[in-house]
Amino acid sequence: MKNISVKLKVVIFLLVVVCFGVSLNYYFNSYIMSKKINIILMGPAGSGKGTAGDAVKDTYGLLKMSAGDVLREYRKDEKNKYAKTVNEYLNAGKLVPVEIANAIIEDFLDKNIKNYKGVIFDGFPRSEEQAIFLDEYLKKTNQTLDAVVYLKMSPEELVERLKNRYSCAKCGEIYNKVGKKTKKEGVCDVCGHTHFVYREDDADINAIYTRFEIFENETKKVIQEYEARGLVHKIQANSGMEAVKKNLTNLLNDIIENNKK
Ligand code: AMP
Repeated sequence: MKNISVKLKVVIFLLVVVCFGVSLNYYFNSYIMSKKINIILMGPAGSGKGTAGDAVKDTYGLLKMSAGDVLREYRKDEKNKYAKTVNEYLNAGKLVPVEIANAIIEDFLDKNIKNYKGVIFDGFPRSEEQAIFLDEYLKKTNQTLDAVVYLKMSPEELVERLKNRYSCAKCGEIYNKVGKKTKKEGVCDVCGHTHFVYREDDADINAIYTRFEIFENETKKVIQEYEARGLVHKIQANSGMEAVKKNLTNLLNDIIENNKK
C-alpha cells in the first residue's frame, strides 16, 4: 500500500513538471508571437517601396502603412478637415505639413494596427520631425523599430519609372509600361479590372523633381540617423523585384529569429 502511494506521488510529481514545462513553453511562444515587427522602407519616389512592401506583407501578417496611400485616401473625402490642404500638397509633390501628416497617420495606425503582427512603414518618416514622432509612437505603444530598408536607385532611372507608372483603379496594383506590365493587356492581374489610373504627381515633371529634392534634403538626414543606430540595410532597387523581395524576406526571417533569442 505504502509502495503504491509512493508511485502515485512520483506520477503526480512528473505530471506537474510536464504541465509546468508545457505552460512555460506556451507563454514563451506567445511572447515571441506577440512581439511586433516594425520596419521602414525608405527611398526616393519610384524606388519601389510600395511594390516591395506588398510583396511580403501578407506572408508575415504585416500592415503596410503607405503614407502616400493614406493621404490620397484622406483627401478623397471633402468632409475631412484638411482634405483641401492635403490635396494641394500632394499634387505639388510637397510634404504635407508635419502636424497634419502625423495626426492622419497616427489615426490610421490606431485604427488598424491591432489586427496585424507589425507594420511596414512605406514613405514614413520622411523628415526628422516625423522620425521623432515615430520613435515616440513606438515607445508609447511598447514597440521597437527592427530595421530600415533603403532602396537605392539613380534619378535618371527613377524618372523613367515614374513617367511610365500606372495602377489599377480598383485594387491599386502598380504596373509600369517599361517594366512590370499586365499579363493580359488592359486587364489587372490581381482583380481583373480594366480601368487604370496615372498619378497627377507622376505626370508633372516639376512635382517629380520636388519629390527628389525633398528626399535629398530631408529624408536622407533621417536615413543617416538610422544608420548611426545600426538599423539600415541597403538594397539596389534596380536589381529586380524578385531580388528585392528575397532580400526583404531574409531580413524579416532574421528579425523573427532574433526575437526568439
Ligand atoms: P508617395 O505615394 O510615397 O510617392 O507619396 C506621394 C505624396 O504624398 C508625396 O509627394 C507627399 O505629397 C505626400 N506624402 C507621402 N508621404 C508623406 C509624409 N511622410 N509626410 C508628408 N507628406 C507625405
